[in-house]
Amino acid sequence: MSQLRFKVVDEAFNRKADPVEIPAERPQEYYGKYVFNRQKMFEYLPADTFEVLINAIDNKESLPREVADSVADGMRQWAIDMGARHYTHWFQPLTETTAEKHDGFVEHDGKGGVIEKFNGKLLVQQEPDASSFPNGGIRNTFEARGYSAWDISSPAFIMGNTLCIPTIFISYTGESLDYKTPLLRALNSVDKAAAAVARYFDPEVRHVRSYLGWEQEYFLVDEALYNARPDLMLTGRTLMGHESAKNQQLEDHYFGAIPSRVEAFMLDLEIECHRLGIPAKTRHNEVAPNQFELAPIFEETNLANDHNLLLMSLIAEVARRHHFRVLLHEKPFAGINGSGKHNNWSLGTDRGVLLFAPGKDSRQNLQFITFVVNVMAAVHRHNALLKASIASATNAHRLGANEAPPAIISIFTGSQLAEILERIESSSNSELSDLANREGLRLNVSQIPEIMLDNTDRNRTSPFAFTGNRFEFRAVGSSANCASAMIALNSVVAEQLIDFKKKVDARVEAGETLRNALLEEIRILIRESRPIHFDGNGYSEEWKAEAEKRGLDCETSVPKIFDAYLRPESVRMFADAGVFSKVELEARNEVKWEMYTKKVQIEARVLGDLAINHVLPVAIRYQSILLDNVSKIRSLFPTDQAAEMSETEIDTIASISKHCKVIKQEVDAMVEARRQANRIENERDKAIAYHDTVVPSMDVIRYHIDKLELMVDNEMWPLPKYRELLFIR
Ligand code: ADP
Ligand code: MG
Repeated sequence: MSQLRFKVVDEAFNRKADPVEIPAERPQEYYGKYVFNRQKMFEYLPADTFEVLINAIDNKESLPREVADSVADGMRQWAIDMGARHYTHWFQPLTETTAEKHDGFVEHDGKGGVIEKFNGKLLVQQEPDASSFPNGGIRNTFEARGYSAWDISSPAFIMGNTLCIPTIFISYTGESLDYKTPLLRALNSVDKAAAAVARYFDPEVRHVRSYLGWEQEYFLVDEALYNARPDLMLTGRTLMGHESAKNQQLEDHYFGAIPSRVEAFMLDLEIECHRLGIPAKTRHNEVAPNQFELAPIFEETNLANDHNLLLMSLIAEVARRHHFRVLLHEKPFAGINGSGKHNNWSLGTDRGVLLFAPGKDSRQNLQFITFVVNVMAAVHRHNALLKASIASATNAHRLGANEAPPAIISIFTGSQLAEILERIESSSNSELSDLANREGLRLNVSQIPEIMLDNTDRNRTSPFAFTGNRFEFRAVGSSANCASAMIALNSVVAEQLIDFKKKVDARVEAGETLRNALLEEIRILIRESRPIHFDGNGYSEEWKAEAEKRGLDCETSVPKIFDAYLRPESVRMFADAGVFSKVELEARNEVKWEMYTKKVQIEARVLGDLAINHVLPVAIRYQSILLDNVSKIRSLFPTDQAAEMSETEIDTIASISKHCKVIKQEVDAMVEARRQANRIENERDKAIAYHDTVVPSMDVIRYHIDKLELMVDNEMWPLPKYRELLFIR
């Protein structure tokens, strides 16, 4: 009966590592092979075109049309030399993935044949018929006009036989319909705001760049097992499955030896990453069985984000090549760790200084403190918004659970930074400068470099941690587009820095020295943002109570968490930063609520189906075998003896009946809850109804199915079990 399950388990357990085609060259030779990078530009573009393009990229200027034509010519030639036949504008709609529509280079040549062509117009702007992308009502569906436009700051690349051109995606009327447009706007805004503050310390600073180093966590499952789990196939996570007796208790998977099949896959993936210019560097086993991580060297945020999106499609493709399926879902398996995508984030000047890294002297350290404290203040003021930026139907299963941050945003600083902040707050300016002058002994501001090197404090329960020279936004989900978090973070920090500069300038104008003005404002910020600072255990019940008292946002319902985007202070902040208009924010929230509803809706349908047509029939069949046995015993043995002999069966029969009954009732209730919710017009109210009335039924159904899994004859159970899914041989 469960022949299929045994067959796929066998298939999976006997599979050997697939061979990897290892290039003869070293990585430095094939790195960026598929990327139209500066070296290729230099090779394929006329000298004057090259110069104008590089200047436009470096100084964020737009490209004259003639130059675009010339770039297009060179790019086409390179792509054709690489074997490409098509090109596409590659963009990031609000679906969390990337989109592409391919066109061939071929055009009529006017003589009945074709030639391969590509000009500046096609390179710079396209009008994909994008009516089916979510837009929150901004675009009239039958008008369907959305434009994609080339983002020259991210190089074109070749995937398969297609030249991919990174683009933004905007509506006819200029509203953003994607993640890249607002990300670029946010990066611009933090560049201006941070550079202005950085010039207090180094007047030569022209630009400040935002850097992102993501750490992508993922699970691998053998493809045969995956195909036998409709819930994994359709929703990316298991909607049922009892915990395996052994899972991660022994902590033997974390940093453990990588299984050979997985190692082959990882090697293949790294080679592909390097060819595409993704600087993959770190790989290791994660905490949960079958969970792994890949991290690149950090890059400028826009590029790093493109690279993460590219990685997410690449990883799926390479996994298939190795007979795996990759799960990017935040919580594919209950009871063990979920997956995140820590966003290591920093700001650095074009003079090569990382602004969250302690410096060599007291001036650099004052700069370091200035920036760190401003980040803390911004995160404090907008903690609800930052939570909204990482919230989703899928990440909701992870937050507050095993090894994942709680659904409250706080900042972990580590004891050393905490001590420094405390001292600054409690000392007067003259005390600080005296101390700093006397070789900075007691203040330690000038000694931070030595101290911070040892910043190994690790608090895995913190959603936002200072880690020596950067902040690590850990609450970001593994399937998310990092841009969502990066847009919010860079924007709120820009706002805060602008505000800070105004206040410092006012003090200086009133006659204070710059140093004193900075210290005074820093002191105020340290005091004001104290509630966001928390180094304790984020999982504890006490923290929830404490956070509430501190006035931090403690909302746990995802549809309501999204409200933070529409609070007056968020609307104002995004408008001032030039990142989102109110119309854009409203439209995007519509999309968020709609996506939430749809994801829950799909899961609820799949769970309902599996419960009714996979689980109940098997449970009932097993029950009837037991019943049959009982009735045979009764027909052969005297009543008393028969009763005793069939005690266990009778108990099991009764239990099965009980669980089946609840499952059936709950599925009916869930269907009814959906029916009610679907009648609601307003997207927010509908999402809330799904959250409040559909999700709880799903938990109940799962609970009873998992009980049946333990009870029903193993031979009959149709779906691969956790112990089979989770341990790659
Ligand atoms: P861990 O798991 O210990 O936090 P990893 O080595 O897995 O560390 O990942 C750290 C990530 O942070 C890498 O992507 C790394 O390039 C990135 N990173 C390091 N320094 C910075 C920085 N200043 N700004 C942004 N990212 C950084
Ligand atoms: Mg990390």
